[in-house]
Amino acid sequence: MSNIYLDYASTTPVDPLVLEAMRPYFCEQFGNASSSHAFGREARKALEEARETVARFIGAQPEEMIFNSGGTEGNNHAVFGVARSLCDRGKHIVISSLEHHSVEEPAAYLEREGCRVTSLGVSAEGLVDPQEVKDSITDQTVLVAVMHANNEIGTIQPLEEIGKIAREKNIPFLVDAVQTVGHIPVKADALGADLLSLSSHKLYGPKGVGALYVRKGVKLPSFLLGGDQERGRRASTENIAGVVGLAKAVALCDQNIASEIKTQSRMRDKLLDEIPKRIDGVKINGSHTQRLPNNAHFSFAKVDGESLLMSLDMAGIAASMGSACASGAMEPSRVLRAIGLSDDWAYGALRITMGRWTTEEQVDYLLEQLPFMIKSLRI
Ligand SMILES: *Cc1c(COP(=O)(O)O)cnc(C)c1O
Repeated sequence: MSNIYLDYASTTPVDPLVLEAMRPYFCEQFGNASSSHAFGREARKALEEARETVARFIGAQPEEMIFNSGGTEGNNHAVFGVARSLCDRGKHIVISSLEHHSVEEPAAYLEREGCRVTSLGVSAEGLVDPQEVKDSITDQTVLVAVMHANNEIGTIQPLEEIGKIAREKNIPFLVDAVQTVGHIPVKADALGADLLSLSSHKLYGPKGVGALYVRKGVKLPSFLLGGDQERGRRASTENIAGVVGLAKAVALCDQNIASEIKTQSRMRDKLLDEIPKRIDGVKINGSHTQRLPNNAHFSFAKVDGESLLMSLDMAGIAASMGSACASGAMEPSRVLRAIGLSDDWAYGALRITMGRWTTEEQVDYLLEQLPFMIKSLRI
């Protein structure tokens, strides 16, 4: 067996049906949605249909969706936009210590500009305590940001409660839902989200496209200037093929979500049960109950995670430590530190994330191979 992809949280393959839906929008229906001729009208129609599909999927109105280039842009837009539009109201933002870099770094940037940032700690399972959110809010607070599910350890946050607290205090609530939309049911209203980011390439659509939900009435200045696309909230010629792909991907998730949750959580539970039985010195990271259906995350004592990934790669298995280490510099993950892991455990991390094309045989193959690898890598 080879070419086993177990890194769906990093990115997913494009579903062939998504590619099929996108295909006409490159060479034939290539119009600019701002043009008033027939080509333009066709593009506009595709754009607005896609907007309806994506909005409906998260229980939103079409005019509450801004199409953009993905999760990173949505999170940057939300954090900088809210901070700017509410700067006369206060200069304090509250985030969780598990936020993706695309929330955490804009917050750190604002901090250097004079904002105060509270980064909330989490439990050993990676859960934010809603009471702590409540206690951290002051009359200066202009934004609360807590991600729906963490991309490394897969912990799903109690957002309904946090959303309620933010709503009571009239503070915009940003939810990074990049890891959950398409994988578990997500309704913006039920979560109490005022802003919610999602990304196409995490749900079997193309890369470089996504959407930001902005609840009606929430003020958000445009992030890109230079055109009045997306109702003046995001300039630049619309990526029609991209949004058509995103909408098709969403429609497929809508169809498949219940059965995928079932099959993936069964494989996940097999990994979570079997790996500690077959291997000594292992810790399961994340929550046992509040967990993404496709995520299993472990730490192995006295194992170098990078070397483990290389061994897996040589055996044809693609997995991850959980955090992309772009610089190549070996820094243990912020998230694993936040849940209280010592560096020793954090260095031995392994994230297995499954998806639409993961099979039981692939999971069994990993279960077979892993004990030998760990044994030969142990120091
Ligand atoms: C992947 C990811 C992002 C970034 O999304 P892109 O579309 O790749 O920019 C943001 N947040 C989370 C939780 C992610 O997993």
